[in-house]
Amino acid sequence: MQHFYFDHNATSPVAPEVLRDMTDAMAEVYGNASSIHFFGQAAKRRLEAARRAAAARLGCTDREIVFTSGGTEADNLAVFGIARKPTRANRYAITSAIEHPAVLNAFGQLEREGVEVTYLPVGSDGRVQMEDVRRVLRHGTTLISIMHANNETGVLQPITEIAAMTRGANVPFHCDGVQVGGRLPVNMRELGVDLYSISGHKFGGPKGVGALYVRKGIDLAALMHGGHHERDRRAGTENVAGASALGRASSLEFDWSALGELRDRLENGILSRVPGTRVNGNTEFRVPNTSNIRFEGIEGEAMVIALDLRGYAVSSGSACSSGAVEPSHVLLAMGLSAEEARSSLRFSLGPGNTVEQVDGLIDAVEASAAHLRRISPAVLRPAALSDVKA
Ligand code: PLP
Repeated sequence: MQHFYFDHNATSPVAPEVLRDMTDAMAEVYGNASSIHFFGQAAKRRLEAARRAAAARLGCTDREIVFTSGGTEADNLAVFGIARKPTRANRYAITSAIEHPAVLNAFGQLEREGVEVTYLPVGSDGRVQMEDVRRVLRHGTTLISIMHANNETGVLQPITEIAAMTRGANVPFHCDGVQVGGRLPVNMRELGVDLYSISGHKFGGPKGVGALYVRKGIDLAALMHGGHHERDRRAGTENVAGASALGRASSLEFDWSALGELRDRLENGILSRVPGTRVNGNTEFRVPNTSNIRFEGIEGEAMVIALDLRGYAVSSGSACSSGAVEPSHVLLAMGLSAEEARSSLRFSLGPGNTVEQVDGLIDAVEASAAHLRRISPAVLRPAALSDVKA
């Protein structure tokens, strides 16, 4: 049986040209980029070329790029790098309730370190509201961190509007751009943020390498203590092959915005053929590759397994911790009940998905939903669906 991948927000396959670039770099450029000899200088040149490529993709200068071990480290470097700077008051920071754990749990740690944190709510459409930002932003706020697009719903946040407000208030603004940077065109100057995280494995690069954009003039406390790498912002011998791969992935031609048509075909197909379905989140402000759909009366995990058995990989968005399936904190923040959150699925498209695969997935979703509703106790079935035939 063939298997088809519709889980690109979890991770995306490494593009063949990126893989070649990375293995070439590993084989040929093995010097330590800090060494002054021929081999070190070759590694340094490769690293700096990658930095220029990443900077070009983000519309910033190469000096503003700090390579990290991934999106999680980029997020942590931004949050702690700002909040732990000794010159800062370190008392009050803002984020949203729908952030990825890489940001959310970093803010949890800040709270344990004595920082007061406001977690902004979102509307039922999954967006942070500007009135709320305005209400909670105080003079002297240490940091605000709001993601660009949510990984579960794909909903885009009002980043340029928030940036205009934080600039006026002189508050550092970090944006977790892991689901956008490298995929869709972004420009740091136009976006107006001070810090922006990206992760290689979301856009055709390998896992374990990412970058943080740090606007010129923003001073960061280091998270790692060691050598003077990355202009004292990230100690550790540079991962030249990983960085080179991220740079190569930054210049891939694949047009993620063209996925909107395929995503809409999938979404409309499911909504029209499967009763009791609806889209979670704003459909106007959304990245083009993601669709989060609720299936009334169906356990999301059961659906993931049923679809996997038919050859389609999707995600339920809920996290399995200590054996229990926790409903998604993102969907709960949008006002869904725990049961509604548990009955939601995330479809995320990427390079390689075709019309044929999408049509096959719609068939598989229709068949799986009908099957699961048939075998679930009648009491769990929504009244409107009680006539679904066996
Ligand atoms: N932020 C967001 C929005 C993500 O989706 C992810 C990955 O799933 C991360 C951060 C973490 O990135 P990484 O897996 O590179 O550590």
